[in-house]
Amino acid sequence: MDINKLLRKNIQTLKPYSSARDEYTGEAMVFLDANENPFNQPYNRYPDPLQREVKEKISSLKNIATEQIFLGNGSDEPIDLLIRAFCEPGDDNIVTINPTYGMYQVAADISGIELRKVSLTEEYELDTDAVLQATDANTKLIFLCSPNNPTGNSLDKNAMLELISRFKGLIIIDEAYIDFAPGKSFLSEIDNYSNLIILQTFSKAWGMAGIRLGMAFASLEIIGILNKIKYPYNLNILTQQKALELLEKKETINKWVKLLIAEREKMAALFNEFPFVEKVYPSDANFLLIKMHDAKGIYDFLVEEGIIVRDRSKVHLCENSLRITIGSSDENETLLNALKELI
Ligand SMILES: *Cc1c(COP(=O)(O)O)cnc(C)c1O
Repeated sequence: MDINKLLRKNIQTLKPYSSARDEYTGEAMVFLDANENPFNQPYNRYPDPLQREVKEKISSLKNIATEQIFLGNGSDEPIDLLIRAFCEPGDDNIVTINPTYGMYQVAADISGIELRKVSLTEEYELDTDAVLQATDANTKLIFLCSPNNPTGNSLDKNAMLELISRFKGLIIIDEAYIDFAPGKSFLSEIDNYSNLIILQTFSKAWGMAGIRLGMAFASLEIIGILNKIKYPYNLNILTQQKALELLEKKETINKWVKLLIAEREKMAALFNEFPFVEKVYPSDANFLLIKMHDAKGIYDFLVEEGIIVRDRSKVHLCENSLRITIGSSDENETLLNALKELI
């Protein structure tokens, strides 16, 4: 597949900004090349534009070449950059599933790109034929999300593989919740499919939504394009330092994940006991989607109790459903006790 043919013309010919840290990357005694202030070290220095140290750590953790990693200000950054690199406003379009994560729509809207939404089945499964039928010669990107937000389920692996091999554009699989899922990441497939991009994030399993750090994994070519159009210093020093600290604590993260999965299964069983709960959907993520009688009433009641969940009732296929994040066992207990007042 010729990735360059998919690119917008202005991006093909773009001459990227060359920063001081791009032009000289080695060690030196004195740096007088970037108009930095000599005081207030180490924050006086511009950060590494390619975040090499952080990428080395992620590289060994995920067993993937550093050149196949892009780091951004949350996953939102690569989502936006992919749209801006490949989709020509007025001409091109994107296909995604419905329901799914809301940022694909917002990012497409900001760039003036049509987003075509293909309904999942009633069981929240991927309908590959319907997705392919929604594409045309101007469809550049397909966004999939697995495990999906807000439904919580993982999409079928073979269905996704079928899409990847049949579609002539790029397929992005958003794996924000993959650490909570029993199934394997698609990361190991990026060397088999030149049109595959995997998104992951430090915001969920890693417990670092506040530092804004998202990851994209793909072929050298695609990562090169993202690097070409990103802000030169897109990740600040503080984020890079915190990420380096966190990457030393993989055992702690694994412990958190195990605990949250155990809490999720416990909560799913307990929610099923409530008479107002119609269905607890199976979840591979750190939240549960729950169909209830009068979701809005229960949502309002919980707000009064000081507990905020997400009402997804207006979302396609999520009628009368609340999306509830799995918290600490204390937080979950508080929620359960509040709900008991409704019986
Ligand atoms: C939470 C979430 C993200 C994370 O976005 P960040 O910008 O990395 O915080 C990405 N995708 C999905 C589907 C999510 O639910």
